[in-house]
Amino acid sequence: MSRQIVSVVGGKEAAVAGTYTSLNPARTGEVVARVGLADAGTFAAACRTAKEAQREWARVPAPVRGRVIASIGRLVEANAERLARLVTEEIGKPYAEALGEVREIVDTCDFFLGEGRRLYGQTVPSEMPDKNLFTFRNPIGVAAVVTAGNFPVAVPSWYLVPALLCGNAVVWKPAEYAAASAEAMFRLFTASGLPDGVLNIVFAGGADTFDGLELALGEGTVQKVGFTGSSEVGRKVGELAGRHLQSACLELGGKNPMVIMPDADLDLAVEGALFSGFGTAGQRCTSLGTVIVHESVHDEFVERFARALHAADIGDPAGDVLAGPLLDQKFADRYEEFLTWLQPHHKVASGNVGRITEDNPRGDFDGGEGLYYHPVIVDGVQPGDRLFLEETFGPIVGVTSFATLDEAIELANLPGYGLSSSIYTTNAKHAFRFREGISAGMVSVNNSTSGAEAHLPFGGNGKSGNGSRQSGMWVLDQFTRWQSMNWDHSGRLQKAQMDVAEIEPDLDFRLP
Ligand code: NAD
Repeated sequence: MSRQIVSVVGGKEAAVAGTYTSLNPARTGEVVARVGLADAGTFAAACRTAKEAQREWARVPAPVRGRVIASIGRLVEANAERLARLVTEEIGKPYAEALGEVREIVDTCDFFLGEGRRLYGQTVPSEMPDKNLFTFRNPIGVAAVVTAGNFPVAVPSWYLVPALLCGNAVVWKPAEYAAASAEAMFRLFTASGLPDGVLNIVFAGGADTFDGLELALGEGTVQKVGFTGSSEVGRKVGELAGRHLQSACLELGGKNPMVIMPDADLDLAVEGALFSGFGTAGQRCTSLGTVIVHESVHDEFVERFARALHAADIGDPAGDVLAGPLLDQKFADRYEEFLTWLQPHHKVASGNVGRITEDNPRGDFDGGEGLYYHPVIVDGVQPGDRLFLEETFGPIVGVTSFATLDEAIELANLPGYGLSSSIYTTNAKHAFRFREGISAGMVSVNNSTSGAEAHLPFGGNGKSGNGSRQSGMWVLDQFTRWQSMNWDHSGRLQKAQMDVAEIEPDLDFRLP
């Protein structure tokens, strides 16, 4: 069923300057939504509207805002299957994973509804008598949030829920290819009773978004930029925010390593590599990039990994499959480019490569009209290879080997990303040595590189982000600013550091 979708600003439909057609990647002849795109001026206007609405929203007591978050959670829960089906239809994510993604919104709401009654400040002792010190968390103002479409609802909720709870207004710019899923989620959020203008959704292309953001930052209507997407665009958005003395929340790409020690449970490692390498057709920010496997178990691992991949189901994402199609034509085009990075020293351990078609089928599956690609295991990747160094968003996993754990850690850090990582070992010493040495923000032990929980900090370092963290209590620092207050009720001017009582110690004292 095709939908017509436009931006909503201050509760009203906004002007349309262009169009985008969101297609079902499993059957590209099917239109999921026709999307009216806004221009830079509309983006900036949305930020002005949000600024107006934010003042009143910030005055709503935090526990009451928490109740609104509770309502959002219940609304999402009640509509979970419908929303998940739409996610599957629009981006080809297997239904079970789509349902899990929707569940993550509910978990996020469940966490933050209580934060409305917590949002603690502190009372702090003063160095002077008759003086009280306090800290408060203040909302920042307006958050402009730009998101990718591979997690079209869960990842945006990591911004929207805490931002709203903390008393901010939001302008959300979702990815074009996931517009219908985003719009459905927006409807569920606003059904909670959020006042008009507190949450706005703007559909726009990348260039217009950048220009709109630049205008809004210049006008002083945006106090926080949240960006989830590629490292390349994140760098530009981060620079722009920096010019306005703001530190954006940047959640970017990954080249996530999995180290397999000789003492690892290989069956478990194969299962983890399969899920994190090829689930969502390798299009998670936390997807497995390179398996770094000890030389003594290398051959056996590659053989078992290839066998497991061969047995995995790839096909209609509405069914019970490991992976469906690529998200959108843009990703299929880029993935075909990644395949050109294969070199003669690489050994494809998985069989066919390229698009699944009648002439290049996967068993009896010919891909039909979908953007389906053969999943690829590439053995023999080397540290200088593009396949080793760069994010290859799609169903391709490299394999290389190592001799010592130190060497494995060096290899794991070499690409310079730092989002997620994993080690398979039965030795606690190896696990902790790896944790210490790895530059990633997230470390799994005997688990895949994917799989965030809503109350654990999520985020990366290096090319994966600027150290900001989402989820749990840690994200509160993105959406509030600490304010300190001192209140002197002594009736006189007491000067800090100068009018402080001194208690003289006898520092020459020594035990007999
Ligand atoms: P992208 O960077 O192309 O686009 C992300 C968003 O930015 C979209 O909404 C897009 O319209 C917008 N955009 C594009 N150009 C822009 C510009 N110049 N200025 C402002 N906005 C612009 O990313 P993508 O290809 O859609 O998504 C995949 C990438 O996102 C991968 O690299 C993946 O690893 C990353 N990702 C990271 C996380 C995380 O939490 N770290 C989560 C999901 C995806």
